[in-house]
Amino acid sequence: MPSCIEWGEERHQECTLTRDEGYRSCSSWGWFSWLCIAWTWVSNVVCVVWTWVTTSFCVVWDIITTIINAILVTLESILGWLLSAIAFIFELLECIPVLGTFIRWIYNGLSFIAMTIASLPDALLGAAGVRPEKILRVCTVILRDEHGIPIASVDYAKTILQLAVDVYKRDANVRIVPLKAFKYSTGFSGAETVDNSWVITDSAVSDSSVLDVPCGASGVGDEWLLTGSKFQSKSGSHCLYGRWRNVTGYGAPVTCFIIRSIPGNSGCSLWITDYVTIVGENIVPPSNKRVLGHEVGHSCNLWHICVDEDRRNLMAIPRESDSCSNTEPDRANPSMTNWQAIRVRASKHVTYF
Ligand SMILES: [Zn+2]
Repeated sequence: MPSCIEWGEERHQECTLTRDEGYRSCSSWGWFSWLCIAWTWVSNVVCVVWTWVTTSFCVVWDIITTIINAILVTLESILGWLLSAIAFIFELLECIPVLGTFIRWIYNGLSFIAMTIASLPDALLGAAGVRPEKILRVCTVILRDEHGIPIASVDYAKTILQLAVDVYKRDANVRIVPLKAFKYSTGFSGAETVDNSWVITDSAVSDSSVLDVPCGASGVGDEWLLTGSKFQSKSGSHCLYGRWRNVTGYGAPVTCFIIRSIPGNSGCSLWITDYVTIVGENIVPPSNKRVLGHEVGHSCNLWHICVDEDRRNLMAIPRESDSCSNTEPDRANPSMTNWQAIRVRASKHVTYF
């Protein structure tokens, strides 16, 4: 069932629940209970009409984006390679340590600001309950160690991808799709099913500079030096399709590198980069299935919250502040709040086209 209609049905049920509760509370109004009943009746009508209007708007929008997407995806699939080849030449500049990182950070910062401003009307509509489907493109690359052995199995990558796909679709109406040509999508179908074609295993061997990368300040340091350049060039060669989006910032795909280790962490996102890193299956316990969705969440404007607020939240972590306990979050069944969904949808990585 289209998410717009599912959402509308939920709101409709909420209207009915509020109405029934309203009628029940009217009995305590004595002589004035008729006034309470009238008020409850009117607010229910308003609630139902509003739900109907927002749901219809959402469905119409989905129809329009489906048609426009069909045309644009076809055009991009035919001409996008040329655009991406031009973009790749520009990106070669970005592979230069320090200077390239400088260009990327300035560029990504500016495109973040521009895209966030452009998304404001959509965010307001989202807050009012109108959330037509948006798209988020990912490119997942498993690295090989010094001996040529892949860091993770394709099945592992598929498991963590599928969880992200399901959560983003269910809670934010964002369709995560693999980065490839002729990938048509419509808001009238359910979440994607991840298959082997979503995952690329690097053909070359890697060394410790990209296999074992710290997060935080030292990770930022590495990103400015050779490590950042290597990730940039791997991303450019494995995820060439759609590179023009990384250069322009519009619907920029997120590259998910599966690497060997991140001291003290199971994943890392520096937010400003178009890539995230995730530790392979040998170190991350199978219960931490949310890791990819969590790191992509950072790239899409989400920050941590304390686990005591909501154990299931995708971004919940223990010891976030002094007053936060060290309870472990539920990493197997994550969810996103409305406010987080609005922020994700305003991200430059998440677009209608
Ligand atoms: Zn995090």
